Amino acid sequence: MNSHPILCFCNPLRKYNLIGDYPHLCSTLRNDMNVAFVHRMKIGNWWIITSNPVKYKGDSHGPKLAKNGQRGMKKHIIHRLMIFDALALTAFAAWWFLRPSPSAPRFDGTRAHADVVTQVNFGARIPGSPASARARAYFTEELTAAGWAVLALPGVSMGHDFVNITANRSDRQPEILLVAHYDSRMAADNDPNPGNHALPVPGANDGASGAAVLLELARVLPAEAPVALLLVDAEDQGNLPGWDWILGSREFAAQMAYRPRAVILLDMIGDADLNIYQERNSDTALTASIWATAKRLGYESLFIPQPRYRVIDDHVPFLEKSLPAVDLIDLDYPYWHTLADTPDKVSAHSLQAVGDVLLQWILENP
Ligand SMILES: [Zn+2]
Repeated sequence: MNSHPILCFCNPLRKYNLIGDYPHLCSTLRNDMNVAFVHRMKIGNWWIITSNPVKYKGDSHGPKLAKNGQRGMKKHIIHRLMIFDALALTAFAAWWFLRPSPSAPRFDGTRAHADVVTQVNFGARIPGSPASARARAYFTEELTAAGWAVLALPGVSMGHDFVNITANRSDRQPEILLVAHYDSRMAADNDPNPGNHALPVPGANDGASGAAVLLELARVLPAEAPVALLLVDAEDQGNLPGWDWILGSREFAAQMAYRPRAVILLDMIGDADLNIYQERNSDTALTASIWATAKRLGYESLFIPQPRYRVIDDHVPFLEKSLPAVDLIDLDYPYWHTLADTPDKVSAHSLQAVGDVLLQWILENP
């Protein structure tokens, strides 16, 4: 059994342009079409099969050929073969140049969604909790497998222990820092049922979605991309007694020894009904550049080119260091800080859109 895919141009003057497996096509050509011989050529993993079309059963040119005699028939055969070969080669060349390159990196939104489910299944990733440690172990395992050097950065702020995770793939100074918080809020204080306010949120969109896109980007980014990753802890406990927002990113920004030319934060970007408006604290040039990439990829309905919110999020400590930073965030999420922030509210398609845009933007801005 030949396992190679096959591209078949046989008798284009009839209806036999087939793509199928090799032995089946050979028997089709020989028996069904009664062709005299089959040309075949192997290019890469593909067999290109072309056939002599003139002996096709019931060929309407038969009487004409018979009338012109042996020499006329030969000329006619050669003529048809030349037309046929030219058509076959043109079609193959078009396919060859237009096909997606097998080496082009491709973001997988379905795999990213599976990472959302995995994180939620660990339990509430409250700073200092066992679920938080399990999430870090999972990130470390996945990033290491993808070739990244992972560093856990423990810190203390306002008396709370937390652990940021950063990852690099070379000794080069990173030009682009991708950031997402991985902690989930310990109190569902926006839940419609006040009885749930003291319970932790599942944090599928608010927490797991951004971390999932970072993980999947880590798997597919080219090794030479000058990117560092930051999975930040203790972002989402503000307005709770003894806590504030963005503790982890404040600590990281205060300690960081390099100055990336772009800091890109992902937060709540998995909503199945995704609308990412431009965040007003974000660097305007960086924002415009990312939204232009989204438009080119056909995601203008998800990346809406209008400013809307102004939020305190993990990009702020970097902006305060005069680094260009942007927050990709969709705050129109009815399940925000409720028990209903579960993986079914997050879609693989939304994760795919954000992953596609970021991957393309990074490839275009090396
Ligand atoms: Zn939150």
